[in-house]
Amino acid sequence: MSIKDKLEKYVIKTCAAQNVSYTNEELQAAYRNATHYLVDMTEVENYNVSEDYFYSPIYHDPKYVKRSFESYKVLYDNNYYSWLYGIGSVAYWAGVLALCSIFHWSKVLFPNFVARCTGPISRAWRATVVIPAALDRNHLGSKYLFGKFDIGLVPTRFESLVILGFYAIELAINVAHIYPISGGNTIRTTRALEIYDLIGIRSGVLAVWIFPLVMLFAGRNNFLISITGINQASFSAYHRWIARAFTILAFIHSWAFMGMEIIYHDVKLAGYAFIALVHFIFGIFCLTGLWLHCWKLRSYHEWEFCAAAIWCFDRFVRIVRCLAFGVPKGNCRIIGEDTIKVILPKPKYWKAFPGAFCYIYFFRPARWWESHPFTIVESDGDEQNIIFYIKVKEGITLYIYNYLMKQPDHSANIRVTVEGPYGRQQPTRKYSKVLLIAGGNGIPGPYTHALDLVSHTLNKQIRLYWTIREWKNLEWFYDELAKLGHYKDKCEVYIYCTRGGDMPNFGSSGCSSEAGSISKTSKEKTIMPMNTQQKISNVEALSYIRFENGRPDLKHILGEEIETAAGSIAVMSCGHPKMCDELRSNVARMTLKSDKRIDYFEENQLW
Ligand SMILES: Cc1cc2nc3c(=O)[nH]c(=O)nc-3n(C[C@H](O)[C@H](O)[C@H](O)COP(=O)(O)OP(=O)(O)OC[C@H]3O[C@@H](n4cnc5c(N)ncnc54)[C@H](O)[C@@H]3O)c2cc1C
Repeated sequence: MSIKDKLEKYVIKTCAAQNVSYTNEELQAAYRNATHYLVDMTEVENYNVSEDYFYSPIYHDPKYVKRSFESYKVLYDNNYYSWLYGIGSVAYWAGVLALCSIFHWSKVLFPNFVARCTGPISRAWRATVVIPAALDRNHLGSKYLFGKFDIGLVPTRFESLVILGFYAIELAINVAHIYPISGGNTIRTTRALEIYDLIGIRSGVLAVWIFPLVMLFAGRNNFLISITGINQASFSAYHRWIARAFTILAFIHSWAFMGMEIIYHDVKLAGYAFIALVHFIFGIFCLTGLWLHCWKLRSYHEWEFCAAAIWCFDRFVRIVRCLAFGVPKGNCRIIGEDTIKVILPKPKYWKAFPGAFCYIYFFRPARWWESHPFTIVESDGDEQNIIFYIKVKEGITLYIYNYLMKQPDHSANIRVTVEGPYGRQQPTRKYSKVLLIAGGNGIPGPYTHALDLVSHTLNKQIRLYWTIREWKNLEWFYDELAKLGHYKDKCEVYIYCTRGGDMPNFGSSGCSSEAGSISKTSKEKTIMPMNTQQKISNVEALSYIRFENGRPDLKHILGEEIETAAGSIAVMSCGHPKMCDELRSNVARMTLKSDKRIDYFEENQLW
């Protein structure tokens, strides 16, 4: 159909909508009549556009009409492509989530098939993409830019590739189909206006499309965690990078429209640009800023609603979770040198799972609004309580520690609530050998997995390796280790002590509540008296454990464990960032060489 035919059809349809009917013949006749009276304005002398009225059809230069047509086409095409690419950027994430879901559910539903996936492609994929850190050994450990600025967590290699892919797509879709029309745009009359308009619309539309993802990936109640098997730490990484992309797009959008305003109004910042500037600078008022911005445009509220709904839903579920748990008094006690043990009565219907964690709110005057994540230790056979082991750091944990230090026996009942349980259970039950490797206060996660495995599976090779700094650190986890001893035929436990020190005081009923002063900076080395290790080995409840001095040689241990594995191997770590990074790197290398299926699971304590 020619453009002329299309135009006729459009006019007939539009007029019909207004109850005015034209036939093709009538239109042709009107056209012929009008062309008969056409006036070329360039030939009318002394014509004043704002004062003179004209009642004749006007002749336009066909070149101008063509440019005009192209100008509108570019404008509407840009809207169309912005939408299309916006959908594309969300579809990219849908694809990533679908891929991760396939990997996750195949491990859960078809463990035997997955265990047989040990061919060179599968090994290379896991060894070079899925398992390693982006830059060999740098995932959890602190990274400094120019040796000074802490740049936080570097995503794993798989996460980095996903993020790089997203940024590459964003870059491409920000510039695709953006071009000035030749001969000059008739709507945006200068080249600068034309480009500002195209870029401003494109970046703005792309920003609103990804905005709901920023909210969705950040929420504690992100239902995608259970569906895709992606853990919260990875979602946090994706959230941060999408949020950065959103900020860049919002900045480009604001800059482009401010540029237009400046050209139109001679450097005067108009209301529109002001709103844009406000929501750029005050990121914290992002939702409100966007709302005002979209209100002015009278569109894109759907994305606002979507993002706001996700945010409100998350807040609502968080409140419901707290209410469901209640606000009991928890017994908080300093135990060992720098650990607080919290025992909380829990409702009967409230269930945790291995590796689950909760956000705890301590209702103390100065910090009641803070909530921090801690791993749940469900005591074997104890249906009434849950336990948390909290390492004293420098914020809320130190505040509670200082409060407890002033209490009799360094113990007090504090009203708390918990929000959770969060996280997801890793499919460790599906592997024939499970290596659980913990460092310091990272023991709760691997321990709960060990307890789950020994009580729910048969014929598995289960190993728990725990590295502590001083023998005294055993005090606070004595009860749990003693409980695991009931399953000593099913699980081998190795404890490494790097500094040695005095004999722990296990007390008559398990642990003593001997408190110590915190000296995190102390570099003093205590020479380990050999008999401390022997004495501990002689404690009956711990006699099933092998105690070693010094740091474990993880590479060597890993090599041996893989060698002696009967089938697929799951390696889980939780501990010091450097230890986890080293382990991750070694697992990646060995995956490439071994013909056994090896998967790596990290339960990191960074947020
Ligand atoms: C899934 C998971 C499970 C965990 N399990 C355990 C466990 O079982 N035992 C254990 O000891 N630790 C665990 N942690 C780590 C624990 O959450 C931190 O050690 C704790 O939050 C430290 O609190 P702090 O205020 O004393 O922190 P510091 O890290 O010393 O913080 C110093 C200051 O920074 C603020 N701050 C710290 N982190 C954040 C943040 N993310 N957002 C905003 N402000 C922040 C603090 O409020 C404080 O003002 C876990 C972490 C995660 C993610």
